[in-house]
Amino acid sequence: MLDYVDLEADLDAEERLIRDTAREFVEEKVRPDIGDHWIEGTFPTELIEEMGELGFYAPNLDGYDLPNVSETAYGILMQELEACDSGLRSMASVQGALVMYPIHSYGSEAQKDKWLEAMGRGEKIGCFGLTEPNHGSNASAMETHAEADGDGYVLNGTKTWITNSPLADVAVVWAKDHTSEDNPVRGFLVETDRDGVETPKIDEKLSLRASITGQIELSNVHVPEENVLPGVEGMKGPLSCLTQARFGIAWGAVGAARNCFETAREYATDRDQFGKPIGSFQLQQEKLAEMATQITTSQLLVHRLTELKERGDLRPEQVSMAKRNNVRMARDQSRIAREMLGGNGITADYSPMRHMANLETVYTYEGTHDIHSLIVGHDLTGIPAFQ
Ligand SMILES: Cc1cc2nc3c(=O)[nH]c(=O)nc-3n(C[C@H](O)[C@H](O)[C@H](O)COP(=O)(O)OP(=O)(O)OC[C@H]3O[C@@H](n4cnc5c(N)ncnc54)[C@H](O)[C@@H]3O)c2cc1C
Repeated sequence: MLDYVDLEADLDAEERLIRDTAREFVEEKVRPDIGDHWIEGTFPTELIEEMGELGFYAPNLDGYDLPNVSETAYGILMQELEACDSGLRSMASVQGALVMYPIHSYGSEAQKDKWLEAMGRGEKIGCFGLTEPNHGSNASAMETHAEADGDGYVLNGTKTWITNSPLADVAVVWAKDHTSEDNPVRGFLVETDRDGVETPKIDEKLSLRASITGQIELSNVHVPEENVLPGVEGMKGPLSCLTQARFGIAWGAVGAARNCFETAREYATDRDQFGKPIGSFQLQQEKLAEMATQITTSQLLVHRLTELKERGDLRPEQVSMAKRNNVRMARDQSRIAREMLGGNGITADYSPMRHMANLETVYTYEGTHDIHSLIVGHDLTGIPAFQ
């Protein structure tokens, strides 16, 4: 595996174990069928609990039977999962960073007891509802709202593009609380079997096909007061979750790019044209050299980010820079790898075109590339250019 500047030499025993466990799981259980799942538009749901048993959901959180591993171990895990497919990493990211993280950080003890262990084991599945049909990048303009009603709230609105919503037992729904002054955004834990909740699947995606995506339709859904996340108010709630998930994406994208590189390198040494391996031609070597360089510099960025996260100094803007850079890098390199595979490169027998299509989603979700440019631009100039 490409590790050109020996970053993995510094991994400790636990980090190596997680890397090897994830690699073995991917190679034995997922990779053999991932192309078929991608074509069929299905996720290997039979593996969801096994991923829990292996500690793939929120392993960097503590308590509630969670592994509490280092941020490096968490990043390496995301890298290994996305080396297989961005949909596989998305499963772990959503469950861990977007659902378990807010419950862990902002939930009541009762909410934590109810959900965290079961979700860690993969027995319960969560989803994160922020995006709406008319409000994507500008999520703070959301229309979904909650009105106080007796011992709880009544929720109305529609969330869309929600990873795992058709599979989920519970949704973290971000909605405006119309009963408080200034209508602050609050997080609501909405069990999907409540009256008035529908989670239709979005079909015919041409990207992230091995991942189930849907809507959350809320029509006069009553939730008790105890389902409100008590520890956060305002956009800080969803944005802090997104920072956690984007950190994992910055790592994961390197995995997708690395897998494209490895596939292209192997193909270039096996495939003969004009009487010799295509990897013996200078043009192909230049592509491999560029790919390896881009992947290595992206790896360095996430390793540095991880050091900052471990010591509590990581800023969301730095995560934006890494998400922006590493996903663009992976998107570009997957195209070069596809090109190096010639006609075979457009089939599902090889991973690069699947990664390439997946990375269109990764480039767009959790803040589009453009939005991360604006976040970094704001940080650099002090001038917000969003509006
Ligand atoms: C497969 C998939 C899974 C997803 N999973 C989830 C999930 O689990 N939960 C969830 O809440 N959401 C999820 N999303 C939604 C995702 O986060 C949004 O698609 C994303 O935030 C962009 O919103 P939008 O699609 O409405 O695009 P828009 O916001 O309408 O943007 C359209 C284009 O305009 C650009 N743009 C927007 N504003 C500006 C500006 N101010 N300046 C310059 N350019 C701008 C954007 O960069 C983009 O290129 C998912 C999306 C996909 C495709």
